[in-house]
Amino acid sequence: MSTLLVKSTRRSAAFLMLCAAGLYGAEMKAGVAKLEITPTTPLWMSGYAARTHPSDGVLVPLWAKALALESSKGRRIVMVTIDVVGIPRSVADEVAARVNKQFGLKREHLLLNASHTHTGPMVWPNLMNMAVIPPEEERKLIAYSHALTDALVSVTGAALNDLAPATVFYGEGSAAFAGNRRLPTPTGIKNSQNPDGPVDHRVPVLKILDRTGKVRAILFAYACHNTTLGADIYQFSADYAGYAQAALERKHPGVAAMFMILCAGDQNPYPRGTVALAEQHGNELADAVDRVLSGSMTPVSGPIRSTFKLTQLRLAPRSREDFQQELKSPVPAVVRRAELMLKAMDAGRRIDEVEYPVEAVRFGHSLTLLALGGEVTVDYALRVQREYHGEPVIAAAYSNDVMSYIPSARVLREGGYEAVDSMPYYGLSGPYATDVEERVFAAIHQVMAKVGR
Ligand SMILES: [Zn+2]
Repeated sequence: MSTLLVKSTRRSAAFLMLCAAGLYGAEMKAGVAKLEITPTTPLWMSGYAARTHPSDGVLVPLWAKALALESSKGRRIVMVTIDVVGIPRSVADEVAARVNKQFGLKREHLLLNASHTHTGPMVWPNLMNMAVIPPEEERKLIAYSHALTDALVSVTGAALNDLAPATVFYGEGSAAFAGNRRLPTPTGIKNSQNPDGPVDHRVPVLKILDRTGKVRAILFAYACHNTTLGADIYQFSADYAGYAQAALERKHPGVAAMFMILCAGDQNPYPRGTVALAEQHGNELADAVDRVLSGSMTPVSGPIRSTFKLTQLRLAPRSREDFQQELKSPVPAVVRRAELMLKAMDAGRRIDEVEYPVEAVRFGHSLTLLALGGEVTVDYALRVQREYHGEPVIAAAYSNDVMSYIPSARVLREGGYEAVDSMPYYGLSGPYATDVEERVFAAIHQVMAKVGR
């Protein structure tokens, strides 16, 4: 082969290189961009109701990172991973409208995934009923939400501007620090590790190489709440996911390492509670990713097909009397929720429906990425694996909107935080109706059929 190359003209050598790339991974185009989104001043943090004051420092910077992949003109997807607790629908909609206007990017070609760090700023109005925020802090949060919107538009545009020939590979590893956090007790489900509960320990990894074979980006995913750090930590970080991204970027200089969170609604990192443990879990995840990168990975080919759908979920019926009763609750968020609901009922607004985004992205016959809104519990990921055989499916959650937990039928039946007690924080009237899992899956079946699965 080397003799042939030496004798070849420049043009045929380039041709041979293209063929070689074709052997190892079908060529696409990829663009990568990252923007730091760490607030520059102290801000109220989100994820825990117990916080009493704004942030007071930074442990690890927060990032928005974008990976644009294009298989041919118009067949593209831009995946944006964001180190915040959740992207509210209002921010997602504005970003989508602006990238459409500025870059011609359609809604189904954009995927926003929030890492669900509990040591990031609140993204107004996500989880606004979790705490009573002083008005001057609220103003700062609204300003941050606008700045974040601008950053997400910019990073999307920068990734699109960066598109250049690339090859993409997929592989899967595993990491074991995620545990099921719904422990059945005689008094109901308790938030504590349940060694017998379902988990999903897979670590899907995408590797993006440029034409010379150099790694440009790594996208890795895991189904685990980003909550090693508790409410006593007031410094910004993206928890284990931030440490994992930083470790991979240190080990692979010049590479963007992006974290996508999967169906982690009822999964916590164990053990938890200290910065050292967040770093330990991050390193464990980075090591799992590195093992995948150095092993044999499968080429990912086009064409890229994607589709985005909004569906309606229903909440269980609640009466005015229920909320009047809840005004006397000892839980402040329940009282605030009751006030909100009574006001909504007075104004004739519906309080029993939630709009829910579901997106599917398929790469040729090599890989499908399903992106669900909300804090989806792990049963969904396991059911997706049971229903879709053959080529791998990654089921991401916390995508395009985080409006609530999304309990499975089982979790809803059992009750507990993910089914009932978290709903006041999201300002929703109460638990979902019993058909929630079937409604989500009806939408999953539709978007999957649209991309040919
Ligand atoms: Zn959560």
